Amino acid sequence: MTLFNTLLASAGGEQNFFAHYIKEPVYLISAALFIFSLMWLGSPRTARKGVYAGVAAMLLAVIATWAALDTFDYFTWIILALVAGFIVGYPLSRVALTAVPQRTALSHAFGGLAAGLVGTAKFWYWFEPETGSPNLTAFRMIAIILEIILGYLTFTGSLIAAGKLMELKWLPQRPWVYKGQQVVNLGAFGLALLLGVLVIMFPDKGWSPWAFGIIILLALNFGWMLVMPIGGADMPTVISILNSYAGLSAVAMGFVLDNKLLIVAGALDGSSGFILSVLMCKAMNRSFTNVLFGAFGQVQTTVATTTQKAVRSASPEDASQLMEMASSVVIVPGYGMAVAQAQHKVRELYDALTKRGIEVRFAIHPVAGRMPGHMNVLLAEADIPYDKLWEMDDINSEFPTVDVVLVIGANDVVNPAARHDKTSPIYGMPILEVDKARTVMAIKRSMNPGFAGIDNELYYMDKTIMVFGDAKGVVGDIVKALTSKLH
Ligand code: NDP
Repeated sequence: MTLFNTLLASAGGEQNFFAHYIKEPVYLISAALFIFSLMWLGSPRTARKGVYAGVAAMLLAVIATWAALDTFDYFTWIILALVAGFIVGYPLSRVALTAVPQRTALSHAFGGLAAGLVGTAKFWYWFEPETGSPNLTAFRMIAIILEIILGYLTFTGSLIAAGKLMELKWLPQRPWVYKGQQVVNLGAFGLALLLGVLVIMFPDKGWSPWAFGIIILLALNFGWMLVMPIGGADMPTVISILNSYAGLSAVAMGFVLDNKLLIVAGALDGSSGFILSVLMCKAMNRSFTNVLFGAFGQVQTTVATTTQKAVRSASPEDASQLMEMASSVVIVPGYGMAVAQAQHKVRELYDALTKRGIEVRFAIHPVAGRMPGHMNVLLAEADIPYDKLWEMDDINSEFPTVDVVLVIGANDVVNPAARHDKTSPIYGMPILEVDKARTVMAIKRSMNPGFAGIDNELYYMDKTIMVFGDAKGVVGDIVKALTSKLH
């Protein structure tokens, strides 16, 4: 690498040519692409473009940072880190769509750990007690302390969140609570902040590395303690908050490394995670402050009734006959459609019905499935036209004029109890008001409850017909019945 270094040095003096003239403009382009990426990801029509823009932005950022290095002494280490990242990252990218929340939690854990390690490395690098640590300025120290606290707490908090979502046997799904928990949690956080202030004021003292180490331990401990009191049911919202924390630690890291792109990208990450968690809380009627401070602390009340009530059930053939007679059909997909991977069969159903001149629309609840946008992604994969996807606020007023609503593996998001039953855990959650349609058909495998663990009164209504079975199989059979009659 010596020859390379000599060439670079001759090109740009102390810093190389790229660092002087190319890096900052490329960073600017990359930052703009990140912003466009987020904007385009906001609509199914432009989402693909958004993904490409994000990938291009990241690629440009990595290339520009690398090209601007003024030494290639660490080339081997960088390659090793890239290979290690690839070995861990590739299998992580191949998970099923239903496992994306836990995969995302793991990504945040690694992001938080990376930020924490960079902050730690920088502190050690600049710590020079003999010369008064001139590089550890108050500004840098504030950034480093924020970076390590947020980074390390995101690491352990995200690991617990991922574990809860994976339903690991040794990790309780129920909230883990004890008396005085909030005092212990806030006490640990307060102590970390206090030590942080001391290290910021006296970064060059012999004891400051010890205090620094204790802050790391407290942050690691605080992360898991923050997430343990929250039930598995609320993990997706917690992940989105942790996303926000990871973004903020990246902002702090940007200040430590004096890297403007990192500051911009971290701020985008932090704010989008924050906005998403607010929207999710609204859609699930959750208190945002409770999620933010990890204070749910209440045992999720599972109130599935054991009393046997009568339901009407029908075969897929019966269902196809009812649909044939309809002039308007609304399909409501839910988590069960994702589990069954029934989206392509649903597309065939859409084709079979529209061929008969029946109007078919899809009603999308913001938290149907297990992550925001879950249904949109699946339906886009099956090439359902975007203009047939109706958001909850737009379709709710239409239901009274709809002949048949076909609920495919959705449960909580169509439970009318949310409107009137004050004792229900989902009371107040906005729902798709399918019970106002003329006929409702619901496909699911049993009378088991959904995510919230509660019974659904929709299934017992006179206008509701249950079609029991796996969503993919049942929808396939309905399509078969419809198409066989066409030939
Ligand atoms: P639910 O979890 O309420 O219900 C899913 C239903 O699908 C179950 O009743 C299940 O019944 C059925 N099902 C499962 N597998 C199959 C299959 N192979 N074939 C047919 N049916 C199947 O899902 P919803 O989408 O209605 O609601 C989402 C829930 O997740 C809400 O409570 C929401 O608050 C919560 N949530 C969502 C988040 C998000 O961002 N989207 C984040 C956090 C929570 P059965 O077992 O009888 O088949």
